[in-house]
Amino acid sequence: MVCSKKASVYVSYLGDHLCAEHFVEYFERRVYDTIVHFRLVEEGDRVAVAVSGGKDSLTTLYLLSKFAGRLGIKVFGVAVDEGIAGYREYKLEALRNLAAKLGVEIYVGSFKDYFGFTLDEAVKKLKEKGLVIKPCSVCGVFRRYVMNAVAREHDASKLATGHNLDDETQVFVMNALKSHIDGILREGIISDETSATLVPRIKPLYLIPEKEVLTYTLIMNIYTPFVECPYIVYAMRHPIRHWVNEVEDEDPGFKYRLLASKELARKKIKAPYKQPTYCKVCGEPSTNPICKTCLYRAYLDEKYKELVEEKMGKINFKRYGLE
Ligand code: SF4
Repeated sequence: MVCSKKASVYVSYLGDHLCAEHFVEYFERRVYDTIVHFRLVEEGDRVAVAVSGGKDSLTTLYLLSKFAGRLGIKVFGVAVDEGIAGYREYKLEALRNLAAKLGVEIYVGSFKDYFGFTLDEAVKKLKEKGLVIKPCSVCGVFRRYVMNAVAREHDASKLATGHNLDDETQVFVMNALKSHIDGILREGIISDETSATLVPRIKPLYLIPEKEVLTYTLIMNIYTPFVECPYIVYAMRHPIRHWVNEVEDEDPGFKYRLLASKELARKKIKAPYKQPTYCKVCGEPSTNPICKTCLYRAYLDEKYKELVEEKMGKINFKRYGLE
């Protein structure tokens, strides 16, 4: 307890109750201190905020535009329209409304413009092919590509995402379960990729639990419609999310200890320096001769497949686990 006002929020890992006003102050200070402590931005940065229209990304946009003057940065939003009917249009509307209130520019890139088909169309094809890859895998790969491309086209020097503590711990557990060490090494608060074509990514909400972000949006009236992506049922994260939340309920602070384990692992496992390699088709960084974006595009689009095969010979989809 900090003051005598009615408490609104219980912060379990602090073992303390806070009123709405003190919670907002605590929340904003933590995000600001995270940005400063980890040097997520430098004066003069042009920060593109990757906004999906969900609570985390809207909060990131809201706070970075609030801090922009103090930090000496310019902030704008970038969004991706995957083409998910009954979902994306509502989230984009919420995003445009908030951006108008904040007076920040929003730039939107769509799957249709970049790849020639929507996610809905892609999912239809994935189903015809037996759903060997799930919609979220395709969506995640394409979304990262478009987000980076739009940010780069608007001269962003940083790309801020809304990943919070819960996202980070869930991804860590998933990577650990799949022995995906590269994934663990890659997922820090700031990306350390060296390619000139990738805008460095930063995560201002890295240390903030999802529940607190939700509480903040409710107190601050940051509105996001309660619509869910129809493909969420295919996401592997669901059961892991439940498990992490259950353990946290029984043992407050569990998520922070998981994050600390991840950071320790990232420090101890030093990835050997690898000369950056690039996709032979599109020229973007890739550990394989063909990047995942081009691979999935070729898998879903005959014309693109022909183009790829002209450049690098027949693609063996089996080799990539797609058949
Ligand atoms: Fe994309 Fe999956 Fe998220 Fe839907 S739930 S927006 S398909 S990543």
